[in-house]
Amino acid sequence: MVPVDRREEFARRLDAVRKRIDAACVAAGRAPGSVELLAVTKTVPAEDVATLLDLGLTAFAENRVQEAEAKAAAVAELRPEARARWHLVGSLQRNKARSVVHWADRVESVDSIRLADALDAAVRRHRETGGRTDRLPILLQYSVDGDPLRGGVPRADLIRLAEHVVSCAGLRLAGLMAVAPLGADPDAAFADVAAAAAALRDRFPQATVLSAGMSADLEAAIRHGSSLVRVGTALVGERPLTSR
Ligand SMILES: *Cc1c(COP(=O)(O)O)cnc(C)c1O
Repeated sequence: MVPVDRREEFARRLDAVRKRIDAACVAAGRAPGSVELLAVTKTVPAEDVATLLDLGLTAFAENRVQEAEAKAAAVAELRPEARARWHLVGSLQRNKARSVVHWADRVESVDSIRLADALDAAVRRHRETGGRTDRLPILLQYSVDGDPLRGGVPRADLIRLAEHVVSCAGLRLAGLMAVAPLGADPDAAFADVAAAAAALRDRFPQATVLSAGMSADLEAAIRHGSSLVRVGTALVGERPLTSR
C-alpha cells in the first residue's frame, strides 16, 4: 500500500465529516452550516492539531486537563499566528480549576455547584492577577440517564445549577452539553436532551448552545437541534483503546 500522507488523510476525513453534517442539516430541514464542528483531539499529538488548524479547524476539545494544557501550549508554539480555541469536555476535579482558566475558552462539563464555584473562584483569582477579564463560558453537562458515575447533572437539578452559574461573576452560562448513554437509542436520548435544552433556554435565553452528537450519532443529534457536534474518531481515526 502507498503510505497516505497525514495531511491528505485529515483533509479527506474532514471533508467527509463536513458532508455528513451538511447532509444531516438538510435532512432535518436546517440550514447547512448551522452546526459547528468541534474537533476532539484527546490523545492526538500537537503536530496533528497544527495540521487540523492548517485545514481550517479552529475549535478543539480535550478531556484531560494536563494533556490539554501541554497541548495548547505546544500548538501555540507550532502555529503562533493561529488562534486555536480549546474546550474542556471531560470530567474535571475541582483542584484543577486553576489550570483550566489559563487555557480553556469554554468548559462544557460543569455538572455541580461545587465545580462551578471552583471555576468561578479560579477565574476571579486569575483576573486579580492580571489574567483573563472575560467571564468563562460554561456549558452544563446534562445526564440523560441520571447515572452519577458517568457525570452530568440530572434533569431535576438542571435549573438550580443554571441559576447558580448565572449568579457567579466569573462565569457565563452558554448552554448545554450531553452524551447519549452507551447502548441507548440515540433518537430517544437526543429527544430528551432537546427537551432539557429547551427548558433551560426558556428560563435563560442566553443558553443558546447545544453541544450534542459525536462520530457515531451526530445525525441523530442534529435531528434534535444540536448546534455543535464533537467529533473525534471520524476526523482523526481510532484512539488507542486505553484512552477512551
Ligand atoms: C471522546 C469524546 C467525543 C468524541 O467521540 P468520537 O466518538 O471519537 O467522535 C465527544 N465528546 C466527548 C465528551 C468525548 O469524551
